[in-house]
Amino acid sequence: MAIEPAMLRAIIVESAGRITAAAEELSALDAAIGDGDHGTNMQRGFEAVLVGASDISGLPFEAALAAIGRTLVMTVGGASGPLYGSFFLGAGSAVAHGRRLPRDLAEVFGAGVDAVAARGRSSAGEKTMLDVLVPVCELLRAEAGRPGLAEKVRVVARQSAERTAPMVASKGRAAYLGARSVGHVDPGARSSCLIIEAICDVWEGRL
Ligand code: ADP
Ligand code: MG
Repeated sequence: MAIEPAMLRAIIVESAGRITAAAEELSALDAAIGDGDHGTNMQRGFEAVLVGASDISGLPFEAALAAIGRTLVMTVGGASGPLYGSFFLGAGSAVAHGRRLPRDLAEVFGAGVDAVAARGRSSAGEKTMLDVLVPVCELLRAEAGRPGLAEKVRVVARQSAERTAPMVASKGRAAYLGARSVGHVDPGARSSCLIIEAICDVWEGRL
């Protein structure tokens, strides 16, 4: 199954819907360990992608990923805008260099994760979105092409987001809190989980 325009459009619609529905939750998570704007940042960005959904989904896949990345960089703001933007630009670059879905799903996703880590100068274990993106990437590398993958991805994404709660933040605004960041789920980890769940549901044909 390749990424058809209709599927990409559905992923955009579903991701934007879930981010908007969770905007208050995301901002509340950010209020606990940051400045309380993650929900509004993400909602603004995904609404902008949604406005362009028809145009974006008609582009060649690598250009569509790059367009999503650029839109997020321009509209989300905060630390997360350039980071989510880097994810989609990095993934798009892998496709532009010949990677194909679904065959190279792990490599394409991995290129996005690497771009986030490079932009954020961060890695897993620092209580950020990477604490969801990296475990999901590892699962994709281990199990790409196996049946039931989407359900496993959903479970790992959810568990990984929850597992940021006991972590001490060492990147982003939450790092200023040090040990006081313990006990709260990282907002970027939660938003990554929501987007990954939306992708899985569309990919599986659930929606
Ligand atoms: P800001 O912190 O500028 O207000 P947001 O609230 O939109 O931006 O985004 C905060 C989220 O960004 C955090 O929850 C974390 O997941 C992510 N983040 C911040 N800095 C980094 C980094 N260096 N690497 C990876 N993710 C980061
Ligand atoms: Mg914030």
